[in-house]
Amino acid sequence: MKVFIFADMEGATGICRFTQTSDKPNSQGLPPHEKMVNYSSYREACHLLMGDVNACVEGLLDAGVDDILVRDGHGIPYNFIPDLMHPRARYIVGDWGSLPLGGLEHDCDAIILLCHHAMAGTPDGVLCHTQSPSRGDRYWYNGRETGEIGQEALIAGHFDIPVIMVSGDEAACRETRAFFGEDVVTVAVKKGLAREGAILLPPGVTAGLIRAGTHEALSRIGRCKPYKIDLPIRARLWMADVEKANAFRREGAGRVDEHTFEMEIDRAVDLFRLC
Ligand SMILES: [Zn+2]
Repeated sequence: MKVFIFADMEGATGICRFTQTSDKPNSQGLPPHEKMVNYSSYREACHLLMGDVNACVEGLLDAGVDDILVRDGHGIPYNFIPDLMHPRARYIVGDWGSLPLGGLEHDCDAIILLCHHAMAGTPDGVLCHTQSPSRGDRYWYNGRETGEIGQEALIAGHFDIPVIMVSGDEAACRETRAFFGEDVVTVAVKKGLAREGAILLPPGVTAGLIRAGTHEALSRIGRCKPYKIDLPIRARLWMADVEKANAFRREGAGRVDEHTFEMEIDRAVDLFRLC
């Protein structure tokens, strides 16, 4: 049995500020003198991310999975700390190239979306966004607003690979159940109070929840269906920032108004042609 873990970062245990999620202070609008402060909090966040990944790997091993592939799926994807990698898993980092989800192998039996966050605009979504927090993007497919959890599930669904578990804050878990139903295991590691405020569960608690949730998810694998929607997909992208929208060009995308682009996409695996 082969399982692909796609790890974002905003939904990891202990993380509730955007400045924790990058070592590029200027991209977060921080003044240069805060650079060192930010760097240390980013490294701490990478440790927290590795803790969640390792708990998930342990859960997969408990369930008898013998091939575990972990993808660093956050920002500039070099967030993993090699010293903390589990000896029984393989890790994919760096450039995505044209690979779906940066290396999803087509013979995977299931995918786990770890450390994920709710879609842009979710009132209690910790660090909620869809693709670009700075551009304020929002996406609709066949009329339904969809965040990163749904986008990644659609791409995996193209290969008939089901999402069996999602971890993140309570809002990400609620979004997961709204899209895929109750058979997908959800593990909440925090509860949002605001976009950058949360009630956090300690790592010593969440590691046990993630490990047990992963084990449970494997027992439900037959009940989780690959996520698919009607083709071709009517994709819509809304960008809050008009200046950035003015500079945005994608082959096949039509501009509907100053904020909005639309495109018809034939296969779910090509979803990020409009992104
Ligand atoms: Zn991210």
